[in-house]
Amino acid sequence: MIPFLDLREASAELGPEMERAIERVVQSGRYILGPEVEAFEEEFAGYCGMRYCVGTGNGLDALTLLLRGFGIGVGDDVIVPSNTYIATWLAVSAVGAGVVPVEPDPVTYNLDPERVEAAIGPRTRAIVAVHLFGQRAAMETLGAIARRRGVALVADAAQAHGADLGGYSSAFSFYPSKNLGALGDGGAVVTDDGALAGRIRQLANYGAREKYLHEVRGVNSRLDPLQAAVLRVKLKHLDQWNLRRLRIAARYLDQLDGIPGLVLPGVDDGGDSVWHIFAVRHPQRDWLARRLREKGIGTMIHYPVPPHLSGAYRDAGFGRGSFPIAEEMAEEELSLPLHPHLTGKQVDEIIQSVCLAACPPAGAAA
Ligand SMILES: *Cc1c(COP(=O)(O)O)cnc(C)c1O
Repeated sequence: MIPFLDLREASAELGPEMERAIERVVQSGRYILGPEVEAFEEEFAGYCGMRYCVGTGNGLDALTLLLRGFGIGVGDDVIVPSNTYIATWLAVSAVGAGVVPVEPDPVTYNLDPERVEAAIGPRTRAIVAVHLFGQRAAMETLGAIARRRGVALVADAAQAHGADLGGYSSAFSFYPSKNLGALGDGGAVVTDDGALAGRIRQLANYGAREKYLHEVRGVNSRLDPLQAAVLRVKLKHLDQWNLRRLRIAARYLDQLDGIPGLVLPGVDDGGDSVWHIFAVRHPQRDWLARRLREKGIGTMIHYPVPPHLSGAYRDAGFGRGSFPIAEEMAEEELSLPLHPHLTGKQVDEIIQSVCLAACPPAGAAA
């Protein structure tokens, strides 16, 4: 059996190194913020090529605080992709702004700049691009549109640790299964804007810059020092682990090419990916997933229900058919196992199983 993902494999590779980091926090007596969080923030900012990093409790909070840091709120609209994890939308809703969903490019699954430009209205304050599945969104084109139209551009980089952020303020999640994952919840905002970083830091820590001086109505969303210590260990391995992902993706792209009905992920011109997820499409997705499960290969669907058809947005008035590309993705997308701890033999086995599974049984009508 090859599961979609078993997080114990990453922990096992880093065993003693991670245990030492955890023990260091236990011995330090600093269990909220403190030197471990500060060290991670500095290291992660440096890794991202940005000047500031502010840790948060999770990725949703990072994105919410980033939007609040820009002063976005009630009466404002924010452009979001129609196909993304629902957190992107929930962050916009959390600040009281309206979501304006825009359909993706059907090849890269990332925001289509032309549609973004067409969706900008008088209330639009920001665009949240998502580097979906690890593939960089078209930040240069989107950035030019954003500047021309006077709106902010930020990134939901929850699936893209290690991607080139192009200098745009970005929100990260360290949910355990992400490319850089903690042993629990965690998140961060990175930015080159010192004033923005300061506002986010204040908002995330009860609205106080100084203990007990609460100047704004903030929240409690801080990166846990234990998680910061774990993340510092894992950050050192991130490039190597992303390289392993890239090599597996290259094999999939090469060896799964040409299977009838199977659509492989499209990589944009000059676009690059840190391959958080290897998303294929197939018109009989559920059938294919079942056949793979019978062969012992675990898969997942990202995501079975698009945000606009989920109960959370029932009252928003987006009916079925509002965002056909996102709906088609929800019906056809299938994620194959792709993570740094897959062995070459397992990759062979997955490739062989997909080839066999995607072929209709002998004698069956096509
Ligand atoms: C994981 C994820 C988030 C949210 O992260 P949490 O840490 O779980 O809150 C946001 N956006 C995208 C695209 C994600 O994949």
